Amino acid sequence: MQYGPNELRRRGGRRWPAELVRQLVHPLALLLWLAAVLLFIVGSFVVAVAVVLIIMLNAAFAFAQELQAERAVEALAEYLPLRAKAVRDGRPVEIDATQLVPGDIAIIEEGDRIAADVRLLAGAIEVDMSALTGEAVPALRSASILDVDVPVLRAHDLVFSGTSCTGGQARGVVFATGMMTELGRIAALSERVEQDPSPLERQVRRVAWLIAAVSVALAFAFIPVATFGAHLSPINALVFAAGLLAGMVPEGLLPVITLALAVAVKVLATRGALVKRLSAVETLGSTDVICTDKTGTLTENRMRPMAVWTATGRTDLNDTGGNPAGTLPDAALDAVARVAATCNNARLRPGEEPSGDPTEVAVLLAAQLLGADTDADRREAGRRWQFHFDPELKLMSTIDQHGDRLVVHTKGAPEAVLPRCSALLDQQGRRVPLSDPDKERVTAQVDAFASDGLRVLTLAERALPIQRRPPHRRVDAERDLCFVGLIAMLDPPRPEVPQAVADCRTAGIRIIVITGDHPLTAVSIARRVGITDGHPRVISGEELDRLHEYQIAELVRDEPDIIFARASPEAKLHIADALREQGHVVAMTGDGVNDAPALRRADIGVAMGRSGTDVAREASTMVLTDDNFASIVAAVRSGRRIYDNVRKFIIYIFAHATPEVTPFLVFALAGGAVPLPLTILQLLAFDVGSETLPALALSREPAEPGLMQRPPRPRAEGVIRGPMLLRAWLFLGVLVSALQMAGFFYVLTRAGWRPGAQTGAGTHLNHAYRQATTMTFLGMIAGQVGTAFAVRTQRASLRSVGVLSNRYLLAGIVGELLLAAVFVYAPVFQQILGTTALPPLDLLLLIPYPFIVWGADELRRYLIRRHAARRRSPP
Ligand code: ATP
Repeated sequence: MQYGPNELRRRGGRRWPAELVRQLVHPLALLLWLAAVLLFIVGSFVVAVAVVLIIMLNAAFAFAQELQAERAVEALAEYLPLRAKAVRDGRPVEIDATQLVPGDIAIIEEGDRIAADVRLLAGAIEVDMSALTGEAVPALRSASILDVDVPVLRAHDLVFSGTSCTGGQARGVVFATGMMTELGRIAALSERVEQDPSPLERQVRRVAWLIAAVSVALAFAFIPVATFGAHLSPINALVFAAGLLAGMVPEGLLPVITLALAVAVKVLATRGALVKRLSAVETLGSTDVICTDKTGTLTENRMRPMAVWTATGRTDLNDTGGNPAGTLPDAALDAVARVAATCNNARLRPGEEPSGDPTEVAVLLAAQLLGADTDADRREAGRRWQFHFDPELKLMSTIDQHGDRLVVHTKGAPEAVLPRCSALLDQQGRRVPLSDPDKERVTAQVDAFASDGLRVLTLAERALPIQRRPPHRRVDAERDLCFVGLIAMLDPPRPEVPQAVADCRTAGIRIIVITGDHPLTAVSIARRVGITDGHPRVISGEELDRLHEYQIAELVRDEPDIIFARASPEAKLHIADALREQGHVVAMTGDGVNDAPALRRADIGVAMGRSGTDVAREASTMVLTDDNFASIVAAVRSGRRIYDNVRKFIIYIFAHATPEVTPFLVFALAGGAVPLPLTILQLLAFDVGSETLPALALSREPAEPGLMQRPPRPRAEGVIRGPMLLRAWLFLGVLVSALQMAGFFYVLTRAGWRPGAQTGAGTHLNHAYRQATTMTFLGMIAGQVGTAFAVRTQRASLRSVGVLSNRYLLAGIVGELLLAAVFVYAPVFQQILGTTALPPLDLLLLIPYPFIVWGADELRRYLIRRHAARRRSPP
């Protein structure tokens, strides 16, 4: 290929040395460096090297996590390849945007993201150039305006890759692709975009700092206590302080969170929800209102024509082929077929899936069943002009050659078309004035169809005076129309939706339907999927437009059961604003160009991957590859699960602190009567060996039962709450401390040690002392294993999620135990850490440790559950 694929290449390779260095100098690492330098200065080289090793290990670990997180986000692009429309072999086809080459004829329509630089040949479009110029106001670009002597970006007949079409339709010739486009030039200059830290990361960073500050304070407080209480030399006290500091700084926390979010993004992608920002995962978890449209999200978007209604009456369509049952020659019915086949952009090809907008496909199928000519090429040959479907106006029109006349063909929502009609076509094909009783008959029929959950379109036409130029203004074309008939179509609800709606109910998530469709159709579908069971308050677009913003706010606050029908895209924006101002976390679906502002304004903008426009997809935070409402609920569930899991490993990592500090406190407070129960190096080894692997595994925990039975997390609630810290430090931490100290004293006293006895090198108690510190070390590890199992659930019993259900955690624990064995039995480590082999009986003693910690927490959770159940149902 001469030009290569049409895509942007990122400049240069990964700047990984710089990124690795960034990990080495982030603030928590700097704190550790400070400790290392202090240790070097006072001559404690081994501990200093150990601290440096910890810094290195952590930096490498964090770097690897970020790399993986970044890849997860980048990989999403592959799920949603950018498509483009081009003319190939004389036919318009949709191709992968990377396949565009200079010379291609591209077709650009409303909602498309433009995939190459194009010189327009025909038509006019409005273009949002903000990606290139930063200007938010759409610019008009037209083939009929030629500029000379203006900068390329301002030329009226050129449109550029990376911008998007917000209205109109045009054809043009591609003149630059890939890195040769204007966007390519900019991309070549710009650097990689940095991702902002998520609110969760920011919160955790704050807490990590708080802990770091407490550690520094504790470490420094330790110096006088150890010097005066335990009569240590100031230098030794400083060594202790620095080691303690290194052990307590929660340096592994942030990378584990980034990775947990990235894993969630990956899992969501396989389930049909592409999340574009890591932070969206946590926002999803606190979502408490879902504003959803109806067509395609709650329903299948596979419309089937069911019936036609004309002035002569109703005709049922059966799609088994052939003519509709019981029809007599009927001019009005013929006219319905003609308008339906002409005012349409869908295509039916024998043996192929129909292509085009599902509503239009249904209309075209109806035309086919009524015997009209549905050939797309002949239709296009006769078309003189088109006024596109406008979601604000809710109608579309075409002007076509019909014999020797031009005819306006219009279809749209009944409320939009009927007021533009002044006549009605009767059975003989006569145009008679449209009387008020006629209008009432039509409206009653529309309501009857809509109450059955059917979508209704009104068809109308007007023959233009001979030899008049077609009107170019929409208002001039779409007036004085002649009502021809109604088409009713069925779009069945998706089978998964009722369950998803029920899940939202128990999860305290409110669903508000905001649809462009008829109020009665909306209510009927909402009722069928269980969104409403009584008589919801239905606000129509007209009513909404008359309301002030504060009135909208009052409505959404006071009416629990509310449906917005015939709503304009602008209405979505007001509703999103009102809800957000009331402190709700709002997910909002949308698929059109005009939905983009509301998608941006909502906390989670949800765009449709299949039926939505590129513009909506770009404005959204989440794209549903299957367009399915149930996927939103699945994503919320995932968000909640991940948030829970983050809390789990925060408790796990924090629970370290108490067992790490206790031995030193005992030593210092005993005033020399008790030898140090854990050496500084053992503490650091524990830190390296036990922290990150199980914490990572905890981010993969399955969801706890009841996850979708509790109310959404309030927006302002922090990730770390008081009770969590109490559980970590004072419950789990204290338990592990008690066990480790019991092991230590048991081994020491068994050897004949009494308080105050010497245990230093050369004394007869030295071997027992080494065994005792090893016992403390292993006790801590055994205790942490119990902690890991205990924190797997917040309130439920472990049995309810399966004791062995997290394979990653089991692997992490095996890894931790193997490492512990190396630390205790490998002679090099015995020398460095001061550990020594333990008699098998002592090892047996350690076996109950995890069970005690885990069992105690299980009991605590049981009591909490029982208490909560009692409160819920007083005797
Ligand atoms: P939702 O907002 O739930 O997706 P919707 O698809 O009905 O519902 P819009 O696409 O804004 O919302 O359509 C609004 C109305 O415009 C429809 O109810 C229908 O009456 C009419 N309409 C939709 N598509 C067309 C079309 N291609 N041509 C003419 N009228 C249309």
